[in-house]
Amino acid sequence: MVWLQLPADGVHEIFMWIERRLEGDRSARLRLDGSGWTLEKTARRGGKHLLWLLLSLWTGFTFVGYFVPIRDLAVQVMAWQGAWQIFWIAFYALATYGNAGFLREQVCKYMCPYARFQSAMFDKDTLIVSYDAARGEGRGPRAKDANYRAQGLGDCIDCTLCVQVCPVGIDIRDGLQYECIGCGLCIDACNSVMDKMHYPRGLVRWSTEQALAQRWSRAQMLRRVFRPRVLLYGAGLLAITVAMVTSLYVRVPLKVDVVRDRGTLSRIVAGGMMENIYRVQIGNATEVPQHYVLSASGLNGLRVASDTAVALGAAEDRWVVVRLQAPYGAAQPGSNPVVIEVRAQADPKIAVSAHTTFLAPR
Ligand code: SF4
Ligand code: SF4
Repeated sequence: MVWLQLPADGVHEIFMWIERRLEGDRSARLRLDGSGWTLEKTARRGGKHLLWLLLSLWTGFTFVGYFVPIRDLAVQVMAWQGAWQIFWIAFYALATYGNAGFLREQVCKYMCPYARFQSAMFDKDTLIVSYDAARGEGRGPRAKDANYRAQGLGDCIDCTLCVQVCPVGIDIRDGLQYECIGCGLCIDACNSVMDKMHYPRGLVRWSTEQALAQRWSRAQMLRRVFRPRVLLYGAGLLAITVAMVTSLYVRVPLKVDVVRDRGTLSRIVAGGMMENIYRVQIGNATEVPQHYVLSASGLNGLRVASDTAVALGAAEDRWVVVRLQAPYGAAQPGSNPVVIEVRAQADPKIAVSAHTTFLAPR
């Protein structure tokens, strides 16, 4: 079964889509806001919030499903068990509901670091959503068939449609602004106006500051794509991608962490053996139950005196107590490096060696 995790931007779009389907476009929503409470208004508004809440809960559920086996999580939630899991699902759902339903562009403007980060990588040849001021100004209304050039007007009819559709509420005609998220909605809106007026499309379009200033053609503008800055960023991105894919490929789905027992440093036990005690955390990072075998090396005659077999469920994580024993005299007095190895029985390639120390009495 596929459990669909929705990205934050996607959730935002779906929230707006639900709103449009149930309450109509912006002007219809304003009318609905101003109208009294009728059965229809209650149904539309209530339906919107109900769908928003369901979608938020789904995003919360799939988010927590990254950290907890999602099939078990579904069973736990249905049985109303697992207080922490339910808390985090509710927390994430509430954050989604608030951010995508109410805060919206305020999140983009004030909370998202993307625009600030992007501005540091920016230059005059960066492709951005731009208003062609030389073509559009002076702006102003005119009759469809009027000789507007003779009236000193440009192609912008000042309909403000590009501002109305902007999700962050800016006017692209004021030039480059850090709030712009490059969604291109103003391009589509303006192109539809240009079509109606029988003017060429592209008054608002993807372009660069340099291309607009120099009146470059599209081909001239695209020739600037392969400049050192872009090649450098591209190489950096490629290196990160290769590193990520490699780390995923060589990733061992097993986590082992060893902590020495602070209560017992070292002791002599029956048979003249020295014994050290450890707490070992074993995490099964696979989606199936695993049986692990523990062994130790680093000293002559070193062995695991506690249980050498540990069974873990899918994605389970557990602390186990491990006792290591070595014959008296096999180690120098003081600290000796040793290795505790945990290996999956079903697949010996799934193995982790954890380095620790074995203390011998002086
Ligand atoms: S690209 Fe999107 S965010 Fe930027 S000005 Fe146009 S509509 Fe607004
Ligand atoms: S949509 Fe186009 S024509 Fe209308 S105000 Fe914006 S830039 Fe001008």
